[in-house]
Amino acid sequence: MKTSGVVGRMARPVLDFVLPPRCAMCKLDVSEPQSLCGPCWAKVTFITDPACAACDRPFEYLVDENALCAACVKERPLPGALRSALVYDDVSRPLLMRFKHGDGTSLAPMMAKWMALRGTDLLKDTDIMVPVPLHWSRLLARRYNQAALLCRELSFIEDASWDPHILKRTRRTASQGHLSKVQRITNVAAAFHVPERQRAQVKDKRILLVDDVMTTGATLGACAKALLGAGARQVNGLVLARTVFRG
Ligand SMILES: [Zn+2]
Ligand SMILES: [Zn+2]
Repeated sequence: MKTSGVVGRMARPVLDFVLPPRCAMCKLDVSEPQSLCGPCWAKVTFITDPACAACDRPFEYLVDENALCAACVKERPLPGALRSALVYDDVSRPLLMRFKHGDGTSLAPMMAKWMALRGTDLLKDTDIMVPVPLHWSRLLARRYNQAALLCRELSFIEDASWDPHILKRTRRTASQGHLSKVQRITNVAAAFHVPERQRAQVKDKRILLVDDVMTTGATLGACAKALLGAGARQVNGLVLARTVFRG
């Protein structure tokens, strides 16, 4: 409709007056919608260089840009590179919990913006983004897949394509919170596959796996294995937050 632009331009200040933008963490008034206030921004640990080339674990000192952390020298979470916008810690945890269990659509644009900043290089090197899927039963209970919301927002920022049907979670895995790293790997091994009709979309493609949180990397590793098994040329990962300790 021709008038929609005019209405859109008028509606914004009116909405700002009725609902002034609030900090996504503490709800204080802020000037920009989809942002944090200064004190909350300062508390969140955004990952910046120097960091491990494979898993984005932050380093405390300057190193060669291809340097790997001790964990990745033994075993990388993904054959490609992983980038993470934030450290998953006591500050970011409540925000991520809200994102996962209720405020997904309102928080996704801000979170995707952070991810696009940290993942610029990986996004340039991507043919298609694939969200880590939820099992259908969990999707029904939760109503949305937080990884797919992030993909959708990233596609608006980067003009990149994404497809939530490429990977399927074939069995519901037990909640991973209390499991050790070895148990997690066993728990998710073979939980993902690429359906036959989606294989052409994967063959020889550079894929960017997208998820909200990485802990041990077992889930991303299992997804990458399924995609590479279906003929993907390269699999990188981009997450909103990662734990700094891999158990
Ligand atoms: Zn705040
Ligand atoms: Zn690493």
